[in-house]
Amino acid sequence: MNRPPRVLLVGVGGIGHPCALALARTGRVELVLLDDDRVERSNLHRLFSFDEADVGRPKAVALADHIERASGGQPMIVLDRATPGSVLALVREADVVVEGSDNFATKFLVADACALASKPSVHGAAVGWSGTVLPVSPSRSACYRCVFEDLPSGDAVDCATAGVFAPVTALVGAVMAAHALRLSIGDASQSGTIAHLDARTGMFRARMFARRKNCPLCSEARVITAIDASRYTTPDCSLHNLAVTSLESSL
Ligand SMILES: [Zn+2]
Repeated sequence: MNRPPRVLLVGVGGIGHPCALALARTGRVELVLLDDDRVERSNLHRLFSFDEADVGRPKAVALADHIERASGGQPMIVLDRATPGSVLALVREADVVVEGSDNFATKFLVADACALASKPSVHGAAVGWSGTVLPVSPSRSACYRCVFEDLPSGDAVDCATAGVFAPVTALVGAVMAAHALRLSIGDASQSGTIAHLDARTGMFRARMFARRKNCPLCSEARVITAIDASRYTTPDCSLHNLAVTSLESSL
């Protein structure tokens, strides 16, 4: 590979924003910023490189401008979101994928695409006072579905609907960046280990997950062999809540 590793950031909102800033400052990776949202005044407290002048601008464009001024890097910009029709082509162009989206459909869509394309990925989430980060290395660690199984039922909260304590986003973004750098140099030693931050105590806990024998994505019994759009539009699996409850009680 004659160019630096290419990191695709899916979502540059609350957690993708600090992750991109941290990665850009290293000067060791090429960044691709995938996001079609615009900066809102209510976002400014956690998109900390932005100010009033950025309100209304596409987040990816404003962030790329800031990175160019601050570190001289020139991130590529894709003003779109990950969709079943586009996700595989986007993921295949990357060396590492950082998924910091704010909804479950996109999280599972990106996780599935990364497994199908054999790309390492980092999945982050921040809700309320809690954050999680899970690095995944295809065929070498538990995958996102080994841990979270499937989209939750309709009453589950995500970061798009529940709000988030702003400092959690910076911490989760920094940990995501650290994992992305490790994966970019082929270090998969932490893959399959989920870190859970509780900002009320300031404590991180970690737990390594084994691959699930009947995982629909990464086991020999896999049933997910292509991106099927219907899989990301029907939240119909109460197992997710059970998985999260089990995860939190075991950490
Ligand atoms: Zn799996």
